Amino acid sequence: MRAFFVTLALLAPVFASASTEIVLYSSRAEPLIRPVLDAYQKATGNTVRLVTDSAEGLIEKIAAEGDKTPADVLMTVDVGNLSEAQKRGLLSPMKSTTLTKNVPSALRDSEGHWVAVSRRMRTIFYNPTKVKPEELSTYEALAEPKWKKRVCLRTSKKVYNQSLVAMMIADLGEKKAEETVRGWVENLAVDVFPDDTKMLEAIAAGQCDVGIANTYYFGRLQKKDPAINIRPFWPNQKGRGVHVNVSGVGVVKNSAKKVEAQKFVEWMTTPEAQKVFAELGMEYPVGAKIEQDPIVRAWGAFKTDPTPLTRVRELQPVAVRLMDRVGYR
Ligand code: FE
Repeated sequence: MRAFFVTLALLAPVFASASTEIVLYSSRAEPLIRPVLDAYQKATGNTVRLVTDSAEGLIEKIAAEGDKTPADVLMTVDVGNLSEAQKRGLLSPMKSTTLTKNVPSALRDSEGHWVAVSRRMRTIFYNPTKVKPEELSTYEALAEPKWKKRVCLRTSKKVYNQSLVAMMIADLGEKKAEETVRGWVENLAVDVFPDDTKMLEAIAAGQCDVGIANTYYFGRLQKKDPAINIRPFWPNQKGRGVHVNVSGVGVVKNSAKKVEAQKFVEWMTTPEAQKVFAELGMEYPVGAKIEQDPIVRAWGAFKTDPTPLTRVRELQPVAVRLMDRVGYR
């Protein structure tokens, strides 16, 4: 009799949990996503199995796995990666009033293949010992001769810079965008950097005076060293606004759990989830009004470029060719 009850007790959790397991393929590192998944699990009783790799690796994996893929949801950063998955027919369009309500239209695919779940600004950073904020104004102004040998940039191979230049093409036209990027390259203080963090550290060390990076990279450095000698500057505030980069998600076309997968995506856009996201990665929410991390709040308010991400994506190949033409490595 006793053994019978013990057996029942062991079985109970299995019967009690009619929960679904969602498989998330994510190019974001586990520490930057795990608490979001924990919060989802707590809110819904569902579980998420996480598979992490590079965006390219995950897209290849989903394609290779075909209709046997265990993946339900794909998460990457930058519209370029999301659109690549879409272009290869790996994502299933979501029809959802929750998503259209929670996420501004510029931050999602018009057919619902993907939506942004967090925003980060690709903005100007400067060394306050060398530069007064009054000397800064726009991305374009960093091409002026006064910045000769004072600019640092990350490599043009990084999709973030391809999106930034694509946005400039959308806003300024190709000619003016090309003049600008050529000017940046002519003003480089040192060779381009492999990542944003190394570039920011070079600004702090006085190797260069200004550069362009995503906000959260600065946030991480500032968290480690609150006295770090770098400040953010919001460019183009009298015009189109600062460039927005995103992380985003889409439902995998061959997912066996599309309904649950879409619910998971919808949940990620709720204020509850947005707060966890923003706090974790020192990012900005996509739509929800949430209380910001104090470090992020201290960077101040700003105006953002309204160019739709889909337009940015369309112009990325043009941006890549442009950067190549002007010798931006
Ligand atoms: Fe990044």
